[in-house]
Amino acid sequence: MESESEVDDRFAPAIDGHVHLMPDRLMRAIRDALTAEAGWSFVHPTDKEAMEAALSAAGVERYLALPYAHRPDMAADLNEWVLGRAAESEMAVPFATVHGDDDVADVVEAAFAAGARGLKFQCPVQECGPTDPRLDPAFELAAKYDRPILFHAGTAPHFEDSPHVGVEQFETFLDSYPDVRAACAHMGAFETDAFLALARDHENAFLDTSFVTSTAASEYVGSTVGIEDDAFETLSESIFYGSDYPNIPYPYAAERAGLLDRELSTATLRDLFGRTAERFLGER
Ligand SMILES: [Zn+2]
Repeated sequence: MESESEVDDRFAPAIDGHVHLMPDRLMRAIRDALTAEAGWSFVHPTDKEAMEAALSAAGVERYLALPYAHRPDMAADLNEWVLGRAAESEMAVPFATVHGDDDVADVVEAAFAAGARGLKFQCPVQECGPTDPRLDPAFELAAKYDRPILFHAGTAPHFEDSPHVGVEQFETFLDSYPDVRAACAHMGAFETDAFLALARDHENAFLDTSFVTSTAASEYVGSTVGIEDDAFETLSESIFYGSDYPNIPYPYAAERAGLLDRELSTATLRDLFGRTAERFLGER
């Protein structure tokens, strides 16, 4: 694996489509939960300056800054915090979130008006997913303002029993909101093949690679997600690189190494590491 300090021009300039930027107290709570549930330990910084220095040193030019709200009445402040950090950043592309029990339309409308570029839902943790009728106002505003949505809609790493995830729900969303660009994090793991099939059939369906294509994936999510190189080649306009940084229990370089180690064409790597995220954001 390349060292953290060496910038690989097959990777840079990259967009990291899955980074968590949240206040320290919240990050600590999330990490404590992951440590308790999965035994993971974390070495990466959580403050914006140190995170951006590390991402930038790796060759990342911009990143999607993703919050999520695990309970009601916190999303509005959280969104405002993320937007504030992004305003003083050259790298952060701010996303917003909302909880199903919030005044959904108000929270989302305010976030979009203040510059949020899309929405993020950590469905199993937030206990509201792509078919939750409480979120319809958010989805309608995403369509109206042409803002994409990133869902953690897959069953990995330990959400097989959650009623808020799964490929059927994601497909229902795509059919209900055909104009909204929607991504499923972690390539839809553990239902990756079914999510890849959806990406083949729906122009507005996207997948991010976070966690599951890293060289460390099999160690942390059990069975290796066996994605063929051909899937990246044929769906490169629907799959974008993401990392889940800084909440990953392994070096940041492992995320890109898992893709760079494959036999992928230069054009496919440019899609994965930048162009497809731009398409998801509506920039191309
Ligand atoms: Zn994440």
